[in-house]
Amino acid sequence: MSLVENRRLHYEENLLWEKEHSEHSGVDFPQLENIASRTGVDMRGDIGLPQLSEPQVVRHFVRMSTWNYSIDHGFFPLGSCTMKHNPRMNEKMARLNGFANIHPLQLETTSQGALELMYELQNWLGELTGLSGVCLAPSAGAHGELAGMMTIKHAHEKLGNAHKKIILAPDSSHGTNPATAVMCGFEVRVIPTKDTGRLSVEAFKEALYRTDDKGADIAGMMVTNPNTCGLFESNILELSELLHEAGGYFYCDGANFNAIVGKARPADFGVDVMHINLHKTFSTPHGGGGPGSGPICCTQELAQYMPVPVVVQNDDLSYSLESEDDRPATLGRLKAFQGQFGVYVRALSYMMSMGADGLKQVSEDAVLNANYILSQLSNDYHVPYDGYCMHECLLTDKKQKEQGVATLDIAKALVEYGYHPMTVYFPLVLAGTMLIEPTETESKDALDRFIVTMKNIAVDVKNGDCDKFHSFPQSSPRKRLDEVKAARNPVLRWTD
Ligand SMILES: *Cc1c(COP(=O)(O)O)cnc(C)c1O
Repeated sequence: MSLVENRRLHYEENLLWEKEHSEHSGVDFPQLENIASRTGVDMRGDIGLPQLSEPQVVRHFVRMSTWNYSIDHGFFPLGSCTMKHNPRMNEKMARLNGFANIHPLQLETTSQGALELMYELQNWLGELTGLSGVCLAPSAGAHGELAGMMTIKHAHEKLGNAHKKIILAPDSSHGTNPATAVMCGFEVRVIPTKDTGRLSVEAFKEALYRTDDKGADIAGMMVTNPNTCGLFESNILELSELLHEAGGYFYCDGANFNAIVGKARPADFGVDVMHINLHKTFSTPHGGGGPGSGPICCTQELAQYMPVPVVVQNDDLSYSLESEDDRPATLGRLKAFQGQFGVYVRALSYMMSMGADGLKQVSEDAVLNANYILSQLSNDYHVPYDGYCMHECLLTDKKQKEQGVATLDIAKALVEYGYHPMTVYFPLVLAGTMLIEPTETESKDALDRFIVTMKNIAVDVKNGDCDKFHSFPQSSPRKRLDEVKAARNPVLRWTD
């Protein structure tokens, strides 16, 4: 047995298979000799699991769980991900017997409470976005993008506009945007935003009218607002009008809705269809913590084409699910059953406990917190775009790079100092970006601690104390990984 490297509560953890001692029995019982099986079936075969006792297995998994860094553990400033506190009230609601143990094949007559909850959630989302056609089915943000872009494609086809093939997308867009457009059979035309971090009317027009003076080939645009540089697209109204004149639809990636929920309605800046990451904006554990949900919200015009099912209220005030038979123009089903019901319960619980005024305050506080960090760090780090940010702020490693310390080193230093790093090298518009999203749930004390840590890193680099940054983290269970080797030579199978 090799001596393991334990540090404080961190044990160097072997795989369960490696812990096994074949001479012990754990889950398999030894074969009995001289006793014939009365069923004629060998009941004591090997079931193929490691031979360990219950306490050995429990300790293994509990110790492993302490290796995770989570939002319940500390500050998690991962930009564009909205990692905020998930109130326990939501969990309590999701665990109510009638919600937790419902079965999707139950009759509508025995599922009225669940259907009412979904109907209420559709209404809240419709009200908050100004887009009243809501389909809850998609399972995540990226799935919502697929649902929304399929809706646009389907609408163009039904309206005899199948020749519309081009989707406009800014270079700062999340990778799922162009990927979704391509998956739907569209062609992506990229709009550059590098200089100001925002879409300019000139660059937009240049892309809109590139091959045809009226933009006849334009199917739509995919824009995140606020965008992934943390900036509100101030020209968005003019851009959406130009797009609509050309007969295109505006798909809004709603992942950053946390910055504007309760403050601005996407329909009012021209959005035709948008997904909502319930797990980001409306507080469900995500990012390895559980399933997400990405409902889409559409204009009345597009609602007929969106996927099914949709919950409706009948004249007798009961609720039912509308499917293909009730909605002949629909593009059909995206998945089995009704979607991630447990997330719907959490989202509605969150909305109702916050109330309309509380949701508005969420975005105000999220924006305030991000601007506080931006203002405190703007002398220490390069700030590429002037002015206030929305719910996340963008910095780059330009100043530190001169001393040989890059964004990756800064991220690893944060791990060493007890933080989850911010989003790094995204958006791709500039070199060495760091995207910091504190969210509204962090206290000033938590923000100040993070700011001091970031300032200390900058001071060390400025004073030439740089070498240590290339070997951080030192105190985590895993130290600096060779990421190039991991990418080039991935070892995906465990072998004895
Ligand atoms: C998170 C995110 C997505 C994808 O959402 P998932 O729920 O992770 O699939 C898309 N766009 C942006 C801007 C995001 O931040």
